[in-house]
Amino acid sequence: MSTPQRLRILLVEDDPIFAAVTAEVMRERALVRWTPTAEAALAAAGEKDWDLIITDIELPGMSGLELVMKIKAAQPHVATLILTGHRSFDNAVEAIRVGADDFLTKPVDRPTLIEKINELAQLSARRKAESSSAVLAIGAHPDDVEVGCGGTLLGHVAQGHEVSVLVLTGGEAGGLPAERAREAARAAELMAVRLIHVNVGGDTVGELDAIVTEIARVLDEVRPDTIYTHSEHDFNQDHRSVHQATLAAAAAVPRIFCFESSSTTVEFQPSRFVAVDEFMDRKLAVIRAYTTHVRQRRHLDAELLRATSRYWSRYGQSRFVEPFEVAREITSDSDGADASESRIDLEAVLGAETVDA
Ligand SMILES: [Zn+2]
Repeated sequence: MSTPQRLRILLVEDDPIFAAVTAEVMRERALVRWTPTAEAALAAAGEKDWDLIITDIELPGMSGLELVMKIKAAQPHVATLILTGHRSFDNAVEAIRVGADDFLTKPVDRPTLIEKINELAQLSARRKAESSSAVLAIGAHPDDVEVGCGGTLLGHVAQGHEVSVLVLTGGEAGGLPAERAREAARAAELMAVRLIHVNVGGDTVGELDAIVTEIARVLDEVRPDTIYTHSEHDFNQDHRSVHQATLAAAAAVPRIFCFESSSTTVEFQPSRFVAVDEFMDRKLAVIRAYTTHVRQRRHLDAELLRATSRYWSRYGQSRFVEPFEVAREITSDSDGADASESRIDLEAVLGAETVDA
């Protein structure tokens, strides 16, 4: 029998002794990361594709139940197990109500815990396979994609989706091409996405035919079911060209959403709003990878990016939002899906809050 791969488990427990004992029990089977608070766990939850998150109920600050609820919303495929010191019916009912996958009472014996983590890791794997998704974000210049939909892409990564970024030029005037290429590579590394950086027409994207051909080549390879790209409502000619070329090349892709840029016009009218609260700080850290540009370009200013994201949050309940125009949205089982159906579908894909304006 081959050795099974070690599981990635996030353990949330404010009692360091109990945490150490529990981690020791699981050590052979899993790589365990321990955090003492739900707030720290929430930050860690988005960094990795966890097989299982185990949490106590009573924690300083946010409770374990609230944590489970937030994880279910952001990463619905990740299994959750509640460990509690109190054998109470109310706790069990609450655990089920917030969507926890299982519930154990302390002290937990070794075989029970091992059996439970194996079972729940399989549940995560099954759910991930069922919801597997390939995502492609297409930008004319380095940093366009990060600014327009960086938080949304981080959300896809957190859910275990395959995310690729296609950049079609070396960059506008404003930075040495080699330097900008290094920055783009660093940004992709920070987001844990694959970067496909081509240079279709030098500084600008050039002829439409050439871009369509290039995008079609990448689509063949990535086979995305969701695309993010520029809006047609944009002053920048390159951005508009990429929008047109994407729609032309991606005739078979069911979902195409268009992001905002610093040059989108007042005609930009988003109808989809994705909550990115958990990913806002990381989005800004990714954008800081464009260090040479952050200094010279005002549209990369962190305060401006935060303020813009806050502005769109008036269409949702979250604090930070990325807005999208819907260029195309076809659900798998019907061609002319109605709005409510497609909204549920995107929620399933993103696990994020979406609101139709
Ligand atoms: Zn651009």
